Parts: sequence; structure tokens; C-alpha cells
Amino acid sequence: MSPPKVQDGTMDAEHVVLRMLQDTEAAIGAGTICAELRNLGFDISEATVGRILRDLDRRKLTRRDSNRGRVLSDAGARELAAYDRRHTRSEFSKALVEALDSRTLHELVDFFYVRRGLEREAVRLAALRATEADLERVRQALIEHEAQTESHWEHGWAFHEEVALASHNELITSLFRLFANSHESLSRLSHELGKTEDSELVHHHDDILAALVARDPDAAERAMMLHLDQLIANLERVAAEQDAAEAVDA
Ligand SMILES: [Zn+2]
Repeated sequence: MSPPKVQDGTMDAEHVVLRMLQDTEAAIGAGTICAELRNLGFDISEATVGRILRDLDRRKLTRRDSNRGRVLSDAGARELAAYDRRHTRSEFSKALVEALDSRTLHELVDFFYVRRGLEREAVRLAALRATEADLERVRQALIEHEAQTESHWEHGWAFHEEVALASHNELITSLFRLFANSHESLSRLSHELGKTEDSELVHHHDDILAALVARDPDAAERAMMLHLDQLIANLERVAAEQDAAEAVDA
């Protein structure tokens, strides 16, 4: 992923000035900087440019080079590098969110492979770290899920979410919530799985809870893997059937 470009229109004037100083390597005067910023589409006055430059000097990101203008300081170069890293990270986050909005069933299967990896660790940690109150919430989600047979797939995710929360691992719970809130993927999934009546999957939840109560991470992992493997197998079957149907249509 490349560093942000001024032309993207996403950089603020301050960082554009720093990049300009880095790119030219020679000292640049305030007048030239102002003209450049306007060329790039910034609606900016000379007074504002003067204020930005004084502020950068004060923070030691730039310094005056006699009376020829400003140059970038080492601290300024480090600030630009940090800015680029922040930008790259936010670009990666955007790409992640886009990838989570699975469009095809095959993408949905991929989504579930990643989720399986996450839930494997979540359930192991939950077996070791869950409080009594956590276990009660997991049990409650299971009871509510089993009571609602009609839309039980919608409801089953609450069980998985409580297990993830019981891991007491912030990164796991954040990632899980990011997954759980990818509406497009989940509503699609619920729809597709509704076609594969599979009561066995619901009983897996009992096994997972029993392993958590027994504080047995290996048993919890095995139960969760069995559950998700079967879920993925069901999804792959639906995807294969859909491919076959499309092949006939074509
Ligand atoms: Zn489940």
C-alpha cells in the first residue's frame, strides 16, 4: 500500500507542506508554499499558510534556513513517516471491512474459515478465563436460542458472541464484533443456512458450554471445531449446489 498522495485530497494542509519540503529538499519560502497549496486545490490564504508554518517551527518539525525559507527537520521527517504508517493502517482497516462484506457464497465460506480460527482461540481462552457471570450469559444465550427454533440461526450468533466475550481478550472481542456486524454477510448466511435444516448444530452448543463449565480448553476447542467444520461443510454444499444450478442455466 503506497503512502497517501496529496492528490488524493485526503491529506491536511500541514502534512502537504511537510511532504512538499521533503520532496524539494531545498528551502522553500512561504509565498511558494501558498501558491503550491492553491495549485493543489486548497482554498487557503497567505495568513493561514504563515500560521501553519509558525506552528510547524514551534513544534520543531520545520526550521528556517536563513532567509530562503523553510526546510524539513529530522523530527518533521519522522512525523511524516508516522503519518504514512497511520494512513496505511487505516487503508488496511478499510480493506478488511470491505472484505468482510462477502458477496458470493464462496466468499462467505472464506469468511467462515477466518472466523473459525478466531473462535478456536476465543473458546480456549473462555474455558480458562470465563467468570461465573460469563458462563451464565453463555448459558442464557443457549437457552434463548433453543427456545426459538423458527429463526434459530439468527439467534445462535448471540451464543457465539457470549463465548467470544468470555475470552476476555480485547482483540478477539473487537474482531468478533466486526465480523458479527457485517450485516450483509450474516443475513446472507442465515438465509443460506436456513436451507440446511441441521438440528445437530444446535446440540453442539451444549457440548461447548459443558467444556467451558469443565474449564477444559482442549475439549472446548474440539467441540467448537466440530461445530464450525460442520457449518462450513453445510455452506460448501449449498455453494456447490448453487454452482451446479448456475452451470445448468448457462
Ligand atoms: Zn453455533
